[in-house]
Amino acid sequence: MRFKVVCTIKDQKFEGYGSSKKLAKLAAARAALAVLEQAGAAPPSAGLAPAGMLQQTLADHIGKLVNEKFNEVMQHDLVHSKRKVLAGIVITTHNRIEDARVIAVTTGTKCVSGEHMSVTGRALNDCHAEVAARRCLQRHLYAQLLMYANQPDPSVPLEQSDVEPVAGGGFQLKRSRQVHLYVSTAPCGDGRIFSPHEHHHAEPDKHPNRLARGQLRTKIESGEGTIPVKNCNNSLQTWDGVMQGERLLTMSCSDKAARWSVAGLQGALLSLLLRPVYLTSLVLGSLLHPHHMYRALCGRIEAYISSLPPPFLLHRPLLSRAASAEARTPARAPSFSVCWCSTMQAPEIINATTGKLESGQPSMLCKQSMFARWQYLVRRLPLLPQESEDATGPVTPRLPDNIEQLLYNEAKQMCPTYQLAKRRLFEAFSKAGLGSWVRRPLEQDQFVCEISGADPHLLFA
Ligand SMILES: [Zn+2]
Repeated sequence: MRFKVVCTIKDQKFEGYGSSKKLAKLAAARAALAVLEQAGAAPPSAGLAPAGMLQQTLADHIGKLVNEKFNEVMQHDLVHSKRKVLAGIVITTHNRIEDARVIAVTTGTKCVSGEHMSVTGRALNDCHAEVAARRCLQRHLYAQLLMYANQPDPSVPLEQSDVEPVAGGGFQLKRSRQVHLYVSTAPCGDGRIFSPHEHHHAEPDKHPNRLARGQLRTKIESGEGTIPVKNCNNSLQTWDGVMQGERLLTMSCSDKAARWSVAGLQGALLSLLLRPVYLTSLVLGSLLHPHHMYRALCGRIEAYISSLPPPFLLHRPLLSRAASAEARTPARAPSFSVCWCSTMQAPEIINATTGKLESGQPSMLCKQSMFARWQYLVRRLPLLPQESEDATGPVTPRLPDNIEQLLYNEAKQMCPTYQLAKRRLFEAFSKAGLGSWVRRPLEQDQFVCEISGADPHLLFA
């Protein structure tokens, strides 16, 4: 890249790089437009709340809806109503309270044990409530896209859907919609590394832990709590290592949430169909320390992240503490996870240690299941153009002829724009001196879709 162009709007700077001045200008203009479009879609009521905070009445309502929905879906199952952390996803239209809808409700605080990792994408790796809630949202998004796949012309917008077609191919969350994540307590990792009694004024930070703030942290296998990645030997875990008893490490929920602020909640696969879906707000039921939470979500990387490929950007979710009496629960956390999503009748009860249902069957939230939905949809819907490496502009991806033979990992690589955004995030963490993202053994994603021929009614249920 020989040329760099900086475009300044008010006091915001947008950089573009290219092999010619023309291409660099184009890249800078695209980066600026992506941010301006996002700003234009900002909710009208955002101005009523303090800067960076969600309106209190809406936050309280979101907390109430998620708790009520959980009680409703679990009313006949007292055993599994036991929980430590509760999470949920609520979608609103124009941030209005009246039509707020609960899309997902989940519980859980555990991860899969190394020996139960799956080579066919059938076990869930991480059943922390907020991570499971995000998978439920993905399932909801697949169901929204299915409505379009069932239409004679998928480019005609549907009133009842949360997504809409984009001119030129692909879909996006409707501009009028907001996605809110509720969690009953601060996500594990950086957003929770402070004493609950710590004073709420931010500076000066004299806490003995302050030098460790912002560090990437991992959950530890079959335990609660997190440790900084600097104490891990290797950022690439190996299959045989884990099978031999090396502890399986999973990034903390705070780190995953920071990743969602850059790469979106939709993940690699859906990025072939959908523009990034960002969180409008994070609402906590307890332990909200806005200063720490903001740092965990985006503050720790904002000075280090650059050259994100449009339409990806660093998105700053609004924060809020919902009025609820969520108390610290010293009791031992159950090792199951409850997952309910708007497409399902009854919730799934997942054994977080095996990553599967208690019956031993895979969850509808597992990779294999998501992959099958993806295979069904990409053959029927117009694909989202992807930014190409040579900066000549977005290119519509082509599906391979033998899509049934495609490995899960190869499918993820079909979205180069998403992969680049993710790389920029990892670079930002390492430039900031906060450690390297720990990745799971590569063997986990080397599988083909084994249920691609399944009945779509079952697949998307
Ligand atoms: Zn967690």
